[in-house]
Amino acid sequence: MLKLTKQMKADIRKLREQDIIVCEACGSDKISEKMWVDSNSFISIDGEAYYKYNEMNDGEEYWCNKCYEETLPIHISEYEGDKDA
Ligand SMILES: [Zn+2]
Repeated sequence: MLKLTKQMKADIRKLREQDIIVCEACGSDKISEKMWVDSNSFISIDGEAYYKYNEMNDGEEYWCNKCYEETLPIHISEYEGDKDA
């Protein structure tokens, strides 16, 4: 298990608030991606496990839990920008 640092806590909070990627099609943040994680390196916060990943997702396999389809992820600011345009 990883040791939880203040920096990690802050980063996770930031991820939740700002660094959100959303479904290109519907804007939902309920999207998933396939990636390899280190099974033995994780922390548990508020009943949720956060794993250290070994590799970035190199494929394009993202899944939208709202569309029930594979999707492409975009940053939330891009999605909101598109709406205004
Ligand atoms: Zn979607």
